[in-house]
Parts: sequence; C-alpha cells; structure tokens
Amino acid sequence: MLAQLTQQPPDALLALIKLYSADDRADKIDLGVGVYRTGEGDTPVFTSIKKAEQMLVDRQDSKAYLGPEGDMAFVEALKPIIFGKDFARIDCIDGMQTPGGTGGVRLAAALAKAAGVGRIWMGTPSWPNHAQIMKDLGVEVGTFNHAAEDGTADMAALRQAVADAAPNDAILLHGCCHNPTGIDYSPADWKEITGLLADKGLLPILDLAYQGLGDGLEDDAAGVRMVMEALPEALMAYSCDKNFGLYRDRVGAVYMMGEGADCLPRIASNGAALARANWSMPPDHGAAAVRMILEDEALTKEWKDELESMRTRINQVRARLAEAGVAGSIDLRPLADQRGLFAVLPLSKDQIAAMRSDHAIYMAGSGRINIAGLTMGNIDKFIKALTKVSG
Ligand code: PMP
Repeated sequence: MLAQLTQQPPDALLALIKLYSADDRADKIDLGVGVYRTGEGDTPVFTSIKKAEQMLVDRQDSKAYLGPEGDMAFVEALKPIIFGKDFARIDCIDGMQTPGGTGGVRLAAALAKAAGVGRIWMGTPSWPNHAQIMKDLGVEVGTFNHAAEDGTADMAALRQAVADAAPNDAILLHGCCHNPTGIDYSPADWKEITGLLADKGLLPILDLAYQGLGDGLEDDAAGVRMVMEALPEALMAYSCDKNFGLYRDRVGAVYMMGEGADCLPRIASNGAALARANWSMPPDHGAAAVRMILEDEALTKEWKDELESMRTRINQVRARLAEAGVAGSIDLRPLADQRGLFAVLPLSKDQIAAMRSDHAIYMAGSGRINIAGLTMGNIDKFIKALTKVSG
C-alpha cells in the first residue's frame, strides 16, 4: 500500500537552507528562512521569554492535560493586545489556543467549511501554506491579485473578487506585514474592505501573524479591529511565533466572533471538536510562557521593548534599501512603505540563481527576501549584487 505513494517535492525553503549550509563562502547571506534576525544575524530567545520560562519551571506543578482549547488564560490574556482595551464587541468573541498560527488558520478554515462556506477567497501571492491547508481540507479557493504595479494593495482586484463572490463565501485577509509582499492595506483600504464585506455578507478570516512587527501593536491590529467592530461574524488566526520569537514552540490561537453571545458556545464547541480530531490539544509550554509575560506588568513592558527594537531594525533596513533608490532594474523605493519581514523582488529565476551562484545570496525562488537577513554590514553587498544581476 504505502509503496503506491508518489514522491512529494521537498519544501523549497528547507532545500534552500541545506544549500546555504553547504556554501563555505564567508560572506554568504541568508534571505530565505522567515525568522527575525538581529543586526548580528542571530535569532535569540527573547529575554522576557527566558524569564517567563524560568518562572514556569519554578511554579508549574503539573503537566496534566488541559483540553482541546489549551490554556484559556493565555487566550484571554492576548485579547487586550489583539483587540485593544475598549473593543465594543469583546463579549461576542471566544478563542482557543492552537499549535501556532498554522493551527489557527487550519481551524478557522475548517470551521468555515463546517459552517457551509462555499469558497474561500484570498489574494495571491500569499503564504504558501494558506493554499496547501485549503487543498488539504478540500475547501474551494478563489484567488485575486494582491499586489498592484505601484507596490500598494491591488484594491481593484479585491473589489472584483468581492463582486464575484457568492454570499456564503469567506475571504482570507492578512492583518498586517503581508507574507510574502510586505504590502499591507492602508487605513482607507481597510475602511473600504469593511464596507464591501458588510454589503456582501462575506465571512472574514483574518490572519494576524506579525502583530507588532510593522508599525506597532496598536496600528498593526487597527485593520482587523475595524472589520471585526463592524461585521457580525469573523474568524481570526493569531500567531505568537514571530512577535514572541517562539517559532518552534508553536504558539497560536483562533478567535471566533459570533452574532450574539448565545451562539458563541455553539461555535466554540465546533472549534473544540475539530481541534480534538486534528491535534487533540495544543502544546502548552510556549503559550504558558506568553501568559506569564502578559500577566506580569514588568515582563509585558520588557517584551514590548524587545518587540519595538525588532520593529525598529526591520524598518531601518527597509529605509536603507529604499534610500538606494533603484538597483539595476529593481526599484527599492516602495520597500520603505511596506511592512514586516518580507518583500518580493521582481527577479527572474535566472537572476535569483545568479544571486546565489555569483554572490552567495540565498533567497526564495519566488523572489521573496527576508528583510531581517540584511544587516548594516551586508546590505551594501546585497545592493551591489542586485544591481549587477538585474542591471
Ligand atoms: N500566517 C502567515 C501569513 C504566516 O506568514 C505564518 C508563518 N510563516 C503563519 C500564519 C503561521 O505561523 P506559525 O509559525 O505560528 O504557525
């Protein structure tokens, strides 16, 4: 039986990591893997997380099962961070812990499917796992172009997608720091999107995986808050893996907003049943560390300061790239207005291969670069290589 399985292609980014490790050029640059890096090229554990983990070691008195919803104190502690302190419809929102934002996306899509959603619309390009999850769930996907020529969001394509959608469809939107393009919706775009979704009655599925890495915790959530204040129902997948640096600990959540408080237990019971069938319950450790931070004022401040320094560095690199203006045929100026870890450079496959072979610069085959892979020490080399390869 198992011999009948066909070979699956290796994950392209993992293959890139192997190539990078095997390269012995001292000045090689990794712009492939999607993790934050400091100016020294490291991805350290947050100091606030280290302290919270120590507290956890000292205080945790049991590792008995929690249940499919995971650590509900973690889910509650995140609410003011995500929705703000005065979110009017907070009583219409319930949540569950999930294994990473990936688990949140999967549960949100599975809930939408269970609720009878016909098609989930999403802008492309997107985080590749979005499409893979939909395919695996057997959910039909509708796509529309995300990035306009001028480096802003393609609102005309989004308008058309909403017009083409059926009333029982859903739409998946990145909350901030769009992966892979870095192109976010402006506040005016969010306002228009809110109106479009309300008129059509589409179910929003919001993916907030990088809160705090764009313009700040409040600004980065402003769009999703606007949509959720105005619409009767919504689902949100949330990740703490980037903004708490917990990647491998798999920390995330799904939030479910229902029309009235009375339907919430029904929605949540479906979430719990789906979680049970998928992973039974989420891993505890990272979420418990996040909860310890958010329940402690001093640790929360320390975490926010660490997050701010990451954001500042990312935006400094963006500004520095934009300052370079045009490198060969690549206009770097829009990068200053885009946000988050990623940007897509319009390079051909050959040009991307030449960046690797001639300059030891590793980037995804899609032209996506991890902005945080650049430092003040290697950015000039990168710009020079880009000029040479694309000029
Ligand atoms: N959504 C988007 C848009 C992402 O980029 C990612 C992470 N790459 C996720 C969700 C999932 O994150 P996690 O590692 O927490 O599963």
